[in-house]
Amino acid sequence: MKILVINCGSSSLKYQLIDMDNEAVLAKGLCERIAIEGSKLTHKASGKEDYVVETPMETHKTAVELVLKALVDPVHGVIKSVDEISAVGHRVLHGGAVYSESIVVNDDVKRVIRECFDLGPLHNPANLIGIEACEAALPGKKNVAVFDTAFHQTMPEKSFMYAIPHEYYEKYHIRRYGFHGTSHSFVSKRAIEFLGLDKNNSKVIVCHLGNGASLSAVLNGKCFDTSMGLTPLEGLIMGTRSGDLDPAVIQFIANKEGKDINEMLNILNKKSGILGMSGVSSDFRDVGKAAKEGNHDAEVALDAYKHRVIKYIGAYTAAMNGVDAIIFTAGVGENDAAMRKEISEGVSFLGIKIDDEANKKRGEEIVISTPDSKVKVAVIPTNEELAIARETLALL
Ligand code: AMP
Repeated sequence: MKILVINCGSSSLKYQLIDMDNEAVLAKGLCERIAIEGSKLTHKASGKEDYVVETPMETHKTAVELVLKALVDPVHGVIKSVDEISAVGHRVLHGGAVYSESIVVNDDVKRVIRECFDLGPLHNPANLIGIEACEAALPGKKNVAVFDTAFHQTMPEKSFMYAIPHEYYEKYHIRRYGFHGTSHSFVSKRAIEFLGLDKNNSKVIVCHLGNGASLSAVLNGKCFDTSMGLTPLEGLIMGTRSGDLDPAVIQFIANKEGKDINEMLNILNKKSGILGMSGVSSDFRDVGKAAKEGNHDAEVALDAYKHRVIKYIGAYTAAMNGVDAIIFTAGVGENDAAMRKEISEGVSFLGIKIDDEANKKRGEEIVISTPDSKVKVAVIPTNEELAIARETLALL
């Protein structure tokens, strides 16, 4: 059985076709610059050369059509007909407080995704177009919505309520939702299995450190707290996002620079984080290189980044009254051994000891703490596409 996974971003569409019999990726690819000049599809099929199509893509609908065409292409494709696709799993950014699990798309689901446009203005409209394009191109096939917010719906009120007048929660559902839920769910479940923890008596902290970054505190297999909020701007310092800051900073800069609130949010989402602090790049490799070459701002950016992760680990350990395992995942978490080591050293008061040899390894699930470490520390590569495909299969 083959499942297509679609992940529509604001101007991009990532996809994978997965054979669920052996969970092998048959093809994957990316449509970039949708609705922008210079749109491009890059299609990678196992055992074949990359196939690049440069053609205008006015909307995500055009992108979905091109993806299906590439999948059945006589030379570059991997299936003879789109009929071979059993179902489509869609990553959907925001399900509000309605969905705590994945669901087969129907009119109600589409209505909720539409109602959440305000909460996910860049992603939810694109997600809905992706779903409707698949409904049109693959009639009769099930589409499953897998929400980034779903895993975090188990958070207690004390974790998700903001300390602002209650009327805003009642009127507009202003609260913390959390994101990267598919990754936090996949990694925390795998951590419990891999480390042999008792799910019903477990305290796990997942550090999803990629270009976007978030931590979650997973108590007895369920999300207890997470660092992102109403939107993915809250929490850790990220590639281009500020994470936590005093909201008064926004008013101060806006007044001084004559900017409106939308411009300020754009700065905090796209021009801040390690990019804004270092002035070098949003890519941790570039910033790391600049820091090594003596760029002070780059060094401070990385120090501040680690400092914030350490503070959150400390906070979540306290909130859960303990921690059994700390897991690193995503681009930085999986690849940057020095970052893992320094963050772990920052919480060494917990009795954590890192095995430097194990920590050097890459690309595999591995325990990087020593056998006598009081808290287990591990790397578990995230795989959001496979998680979406599994959720989709489970609903067929
Ligand atoms: P993701 O959003 O999970 O794809 O992660 C992307 C981030 O991972 C980028 O900012 C990269 O700089 C970072 N990254 C990838 N490989 C490495 C590496 N070897 N060392 C440090 N950062 C890395």
